This record gives sequence, C-alpha cells and structure tokens, in this order.
Amino acid sequence: MNSLRIFLLFALFSISLSHEPFNSHLLPRPLILEYPQESSEEIQLECTSWRFGVEANNLGPWKTIPVACAEYVKDYMTGRAYEIDLERVANEAAIYARTVELSADGNDVWVFDVDETLLSNLPYYAEHGYGLEVFDEMEFAKWVEKATAPAIGSSLKLYEVVQSLGFKTFLLTGRSENQRSVTVENLINAGFQNWDKLILRGSNDHGKQATVYKSEKRSEMVKEGYRIVGNSGDQWSDLLGSEMSLRSFKLPNPMYYIP
Ligand SMILES: [Mg+2]
Repeated sequence: MNSLRIFLLFALFSISLSHEPFNSHLLPRPLILEYPQESSEEIQLECTSWRFGVEANNLGPWKTIPVACAEYVKDYMTGRAYEIDLERVANEAAIYARTVELSADGNDVWVFDVDETLLSNLPYYAEHGYGLEVFDEMEFAKWVEKATAPAIGSSLKLYEVVQSLGFKTFLLTGRSENQRSVTVENLINAGFQNWDKLILRGSNDHGKQATVYKSEKRSEMVKEGYRIVGNSGDQWSDLLGSEMSLRSFKLPNPMYYIP
C-alpha cells in the first residue's frame, strides 16, 4: 500500500505543479486503480493451456500442479469435464476395438493400467489437494490397503467390451507385488472380472522408471507370442517405450506425473 500512497501523492503533486490551464476533465475524476493481477478468466486460460501441455506430454517432469491451478484442477476433476473426457477416450477405444480382426489363436491383447485408468483414487486425492501435495508413497499405500477405490465407469464398460470381443485383458500396474491381494480385492469389488494377467512390480522392478518397467513387461508379452493391439493408461509412461501397442489411449490425468 505504501507504493500506492507514494504514487497518489506524486500524481497529485505533479497535477498541482502543472502550468496547464485548468481542465474540468482532469479534476475531480474518479481514480480507477488497476493492479497487476491476472483476471480469473486469464488464470482459467493459463490452466487450460497447462492441462493441454500435460495431456499432450509437452511438459517436462513435474511434481505438483501449479498453485495457481489448484481450484481449476479441483473443478475439472470433480465436475463433468473429467467424466466427459474419460467417456470420450473409452468410446474411441471401443470404436477402434470393434474394427480389429482378431486372430483365432486368442493372442490379441488389450493392456490396461490400474490407477486412474480402471480404478479411481479421487477419494484419496480429494484429501491431498488434487495433486497440490507432493506424492506421499506411504500415505497412498494406506489408501491402497483399504481396497475401496471405485471403478472408472467408462473404463469398466470398455473393459467389458474388449473382453466380449475376445481380447485377452492384461492389467499392468506400477503397484507392488505385495499389494496384489488388496488390488485383486479392490478390482473385484469395483466390478472387474476375468482378467488374464495382473502384472505388478516384483522385487527386480523396484526403482525402475515406469516407462522402463512397463516396456520390459510388454516385451515379455510379445516374446510369449501375444500381440498388443490396444493399451489404455492415464500416464504416457503406460504407453510409450518399446513394444508399444498398435493403438494407445491416453486417459486424462492432470493431478500427477509418473516418468
Ligand atoms: Mg495410472
């Protein structure tokens, strides 16, 4: 406020010193002060642009969402926008799946990630600022132990569609092998059934970047004679790397980034 007072004093001082003839338009006049502050519309646009950068994988690694976008991300995740984006991805994936001519050997595979792809951890992230807090592995593990993450409805539909078409369903998750039983329990409670493989990080996989770990697991699938025809994941590290799927489907997730 001090700089504002100095500015006002200076403005009045300079007017009083001016030798111009009196101008009724100059004094008195309402003072409209503009602060160098972004409008909410501008913040909205900036955060939409940031989210585009996230989804297009244009951003470098990041640990938390921008503070200025906290409300924006919360509104996106809890409103209709996230749901509509999820539905679009699932619908496009189902359209593609129906065009695939499956081989008679039964080796055509659809790979699904688990967290924020089949299961939603929104109840957890609601308690942790929707990505505003740095990821806490121990806290998240406690949530996983509850096995209460709900299904992402549109993903469950896609899951059932690809199974009915005859795809093998392989679930490939960054969760640890010691979380297998709670993960199975959670998946079944959420309505997922009859997957063909559930692959979790074993003792040799810890410390590996997700892209490396998931690429290695896909390579194993291919060596076993499977063809990866579709892959659904909320992280680019679910989809990129070696032995990429014929088509990859990126689900929205502006809350966190896994390299
Ligand atoms: Mg995920």
